[in-house]
Amino acid sequence: MPLSTSEIPDCLIAGAGPTGLTLALELARRGKTVRIFDRSPGPRPVEQSRALGILPPSLVLLEPSGVTTRLLEAGLTIKEARVSRDALPRFAIEIAKGGGKFPFLLSLPQGQTERILIAALEEFGVEPEWNSEVSGLTDVGERPLLSVNQGGDVEEIPGRFVAGCDGVHSVVREKLGIAFEGDRFPATFSLADVVLKQPDPKGVAMVNAIAEGVVARLPLPDGSVRLIGSFPDVEQHPDVAPLIGSTGWKSDFSITFRHAVKLQKGRAFLAGDAAHVHSPVGGRGMNTGIGDAAWLAWLICEARQEEYEDYRLPVARMIISQTRAMTKIISRRTALRRFALDHILPLAMKFSFVQRRAAAQMLAHDMPHPDWID
Ligand SMILES: Cc1cc2nc3c(=O)[nH]c(=O)nc-3n(C[C@H](O)[C@H](O)[C@H](O)COP(=O)(O)OP(=O)(O)OC[C@H]3O[C@@H](n4cnc5c(N)ncnc54)[C@H](O)[C@@H]3O)c2cc1C
Repeated sequence: MPLSTSEIPDCLIAGAGPTGLTLALELARRGKTVRIFDRSPGPRPVEQSRALGILPPSLVLLEPSGVTTRLLEAGLTIKEARVSRDALPRFAIEIAKGGGKFPFLLSLPQGQTERILIAALEEFGVEPEWNSEVSGLTDVGERPLLSVNQGGDVEEIPGRFVAGCDGVHSVVREKLGIAFEGDRFPATFSLADVVLKQPDPKGVAMVNAIAEGVVARLPLPDGSVRLIGSFPDVEQHPDVAPLIGSTGWKSDFSITFRHAVKLQKGRAFLAGDAAHVHSPVGGRGMNTGIGDAAWLAWLICEARQEEYEDYRLPVARMIISQTRAMTKIISRRTALRRFALDHILPLAMKFSFVQRRAAAQMLAHDMPHPDWID
């Protein structure tokens, strides 16, 4: 039986990753009705978390829903980054010098962030519908109809709005016929979650420039460390392997820089990795998805959803351009990079305005402040 107009959900969301969950939460807490579908049987295992850095703009956005308090309880604050070359200390960045309400990076595995978002969403009576694969989308101009396969039964579900938060291989984007333009970076990066024989100082991120590129060591709340290498199999590198006591999840990954040429078609929108993807340098991916979702929810509630693309496409372009430049720098060993690390940056970092700028960049203070939060 067709749904009466009052029974039609305000928003149908494809994908219950951090972007889709944030969108659902930000709409639900403002009284909108949502359904959120994910093809997976449940959230990703915590021990296979991709993102682990929550940046201050996300903490600001998630504060009204109460999520930030829970993230802060669960996460580990990173207050300093130490940079070395071939294990020789060169300079440190005091992250607190960047200022703001949350003057630190918060380390928390993505799987835990997702579970905190799910718990907050459930308090508004919304549960992600798992094992629900979105396979089609029609009539986006008038009354969008989403095809959802739940256990072999394909249902055509109407909604006032549809959001594709279904990741980099987005079906929603494909059904909307929106191009995903960009290119692949000619390098493979790697990550490994390890326990070090000799722990790093608490709350300190370490970055070491070596012949092959860069190895970063980011502390996790459970005392383990995320290694990220700008080359494959970081945990096997001869400079790194002797430091490791045990290795957990590890993965090699390629890097692409792409964004959807449009973020909206009719009453359907794209957000998160469905809309843009780039290198993890700077930890911007998940955070930008959370930003997209929070802005989209606000704009829908203000009946200003037509402005979504104007707000968020420039952000996606800026982050792609920044992360591309940073990825190039860390991937190549050049005489200039070596000179900068040995001489220019150690000297420059002695000036507090340079420290402040570097820290502000790490804290993503270049993100627009949300109009709805004081
Ligand atoms: C190695 C690595 C390290 C990273 N580190 C960081 C970091 O430190 N900081 C950071 O901010 N970002 C980081 N990122 C990026 C971050 O993981 C992503 O940007 C983030 O997961 C995007 O969230 P999302 O919700 O948009 O998409 P996803 O997390 O991909 O979620 C999409 C969801 O949609 C579901 N789905 C897909 N297709 C369908 C369908 N047809 N129907 C229904 N459901 C569907 C999927 O099951 C999934 O649950 C990293 C990425 C990688 C690869």
